Amino acid sequence: MKPLTLIPAAFVAILSPAPGISADAPSTPLLTIALKPTQVDPVNGTGDVNVGMTISNVSAGKGAALLAHQPGGPRMTRPIGIDDLHLSDGTGLVPLDRAIEDGMEVWRAGRDISGEVRLSYRTRIDNSAGGILSSIPYVDGPGISGIGSMLLAIPQLDGDYRIAVRWDLSDLPAGARAATTYADGDFTLPAGPIARLDRTLFMAGVIDEAPRGQSGGFKALWTGSPQFDLRAAMDWSAKAYHFYSRFFADPAEPRYRIFLRENPYNPGNGTATIHAFAMGLGKATTAKKMETILGHEMTHTWTANELGKWYTEGDAVYYQARLPWQAGLIPIEEYLTDINLTAARYYTSEVIDAPDKDVVPNFWTDLRYNVLSYDRGAMYFAMLNGEIVHESGGARSIDDLVRAMVAIKRDEGNEPTEQDWIALLRNELGDKGVRIHEGMISGAMRMVPRSDAFGPCFHRVEASVRRYDLGFGGPQLKRLKVVENLRPGSEAAKAGLRNGDRLDYADSTEGTMRHPDLKLTVRVTREGRTFETSFLPRGAPMRIYQWELVPGSATRKGNRCRVGEQH
Ligand SMILES: [Zn+2]
Repeated sequence: MKPLTLIPAAFVAILSPAPGISADAPSTPLLTIALKPTQVDPVNGTGDVNVGMTISNVSAGKGAALLAHQPGGPRMTRPIGIDDLHLSDGTGLVPLDRAIEDGMEVWRAGRDISGEVRLSYRTRIDNSAGGILSSIPYVDGPGISGIGSMLLAIPQLDGDYRIAVRWDLSDLPAGARAATTYADGDFTLPAGPIARLDRTLFMAGVIDEAPRGQSGGFKALWTGSPQFDLRAAMDWSAKAYHFYSRFFADPAEPRYRIFLRENPYNPGNGTATIHAFAMGLGKATTAKKMETILGHEMTHTWTANELGKWYTEGDAVYYQARLPWQAGLIPIEEYLTDINLTAARYYTSEVIDAPDKDVVPNFWTDLRYNVLSYDRGAMYFAMLNGEIVHESGGARSIDDLVRAMVAIKRDEGNEPTEQDWIALLRNELGDKGVRIHEGMISGAMRMVPRSDAFGPCFHRVEASVRRYDLGFGGPQLKRLKVVENLRPGSEAAKAGLRNGDRLDYADSTEGTMRHPDLKLTVRVTREGRTFETSFLPRGAPMRIYQWELVPGSATRKGNRCRVGEQH
């Protein structure tokens, strides 16, 4: 929804500054938010947050949208409740009209309002509401966490505000503390839009963190009791983050916080916000899985831009294991495995030659297009790397071009464009660079990196891999709920599936698409009986490109394998 304009009065009473208050001009209006988590019940997964807000001089007409709240998210069974909402101004209580508008819960003024606005309400958290996103407000152990847009009813005021957040933790267990994307405990943000709250992550309770103590800009925080060594995984991530920051040539390491919680509905889900990441853990989560996800996600912190998934996901896949390997955080064999999983899914894709413009319209309905942007993008970056290293005699690499794109945003404050990227390619490789780019975008050119495109310790070979094939349904690879068009002779048929069987997937089809040896486990319901079966969702073999270690490479010193790496 579009926020209506409330006009802050030109002159604002000077409030006594709280500790840590910013040095903005005193005329910048102030929004103060008091947060009191209460009734937190880890057993039932319920809790409340009492919210109080004070906004210095406001004037708004009758009917103006004063507050907005996002009550639901994907696959939530009921909305997040905001109760006991009261709002008053200089002349007393203001009647409010509440309505759902475009999926948002909106409160409009029942009369003209002016002066200092005070409001209070209670947000009710209930884990049983479900939802797949790890940013949905949730009770995990002795604590709560959630994203601003769902945790708060947020004032819809235009213009810049300072925002002061004050916590009351007196109803939480001893040792409780609070943290957000921005800071630990109470803090005040300098002048800026109130909409900053929408994507702010909040956490309060008995918080565990890693690394312990100060470690550059990185911090991971959680309140629950994970079933694996989360601390070791987060210490690993902190080291990776320090390396990434140097790799992308930051003048100073930027802040980055990971908020972790149980997510029984969709473990592994991550929601990226500004300088932060909300991530869900499940029974099957392991330190290795966390590292794999974060190796990818942290790349987005630097390279996210508007160019499209071929760029943002392509480079994130290209770097997801390459940078941890370069940092000495994973062995060379693990990097090689990552290269080959990406290459295998790309070369066996049934839509390998689809133009990039077909990706977005099919992204959520056809998994083949969804993964194509990731896989083809990564092979495109590898192909360019091979060419640049070759042309420059080893002096330059794709890293130099990606860093140049990062610098456009960071140093010049501009959003880099596809034209900027093409200019970099032309400068580096002449027309050949532009041809590779256009061939990738049109789908007309297969991305086949040079044999040594991943470095001198790897070389390209041909191998046989079986194409992904569920064995039933159409080609879209959607999660079918009922078996139809079962193909005789398929692995699904051999495992005993029949047309008409109702299916419940225990694993993700995405995972089995990427791993050629991974079986898919399904719960089958047939004639009132439910049983579990698993099968390898693979069909006919085909010849594809893979990479192998050049003999002797695994024992060579790592930096002899890293071409174009400057550290
Ligand atoms: Zn990504």
